[in-house]
Amino acid sequence: MAQDPVVLADADNTLWDTDDVYSSAQLALLSNIEVATGKRVVGSNRLEFVREYDQAIAARHHLHLRYPSPMLIRALVAGLSSMASTEAAESVIRGRKLPYQISILEIDSIASEFALALSKMPDLLQGVQEGLQLAKDHGLVTYVLTEGQAEKQRKLIDFHGLGKLVQGVSEVTKSESQFRRLRKRFFPANVYVVGDQEDRDIIPADKARCITILIPSRFRPKWQDRDCGETAFFVANNFLEAISWIVEKEKKELCLSVNK
Ligand SMILES: [Mg+2]
Repeated sequence: MAQDPVVLADADNTLWDTDDVYSSAQLALLSNIEVATGKRVVGSNRLEFVREYDQAIAARHHLHLRYPSPMLIRALVAGLSSMASTEAAESVIRGRKLPYQISILEIDSIASEFALALSKMPDLLQGVQEGLQLAKDHGLVTYVLTEGQAEKQRKLIDFHGLGKLVQGVSEVTKSESQFRRLRKRFFPANVYVVGDQEDRDIIPADKARCITILIPSRFRPKWQDRDCGETAFFVANNFLEAISWIVEKEKKELCLSVNK
């Protein structure tokens, strides 16, 4: 008997609206820093202002987007006094003393509030519940893929009542070799990878010859300059559309194998 096809679904911004949690937390962070410094952002795109400093640090820090948040606070304090993002990022990473500062107590208090805001459970994205149900109804086996903590994803799956629709959570580094390992594990089943970031989810999975479906994210870091959908087999508007495409593809393959 043929093995059930496998769907490896990225978590953040593919299943859950993590971007919305980040946006709200980052805007609240900026307001708190404005109160602490008495300075306000010039211009209307407040979120873009925060993300410029955030990405300037992430692009240089070895922990990438997981760098410690007090660094962002210190960089934004300097940014509100017109220091450019690149200079502010380098200064905070190297621990240089900045000309514009707020007290350590204020930084700690703003950082705790930021951590609390980031711990909020993200909402499900459009079509996720329906897509997971459709996958189960058609015998697709879905795993959630994360580069973060599997436990956090399990909590989210429970919180959204999706336990019966998801087979498990896999904690992996999204590299070509890891996707290759996963393909081997599920051989001879087709392995579909669904994700929102072309560089993280699609390109390494495609190199490992998984079948890739991109659901382009609203959040696109500056270092990801590739056109969305260049590598993916299919570009979907939401998770339900991605699963519907997989279901149709599997039906066609089944017809072809029966008619051989
Ligand atoms: Mg993602």
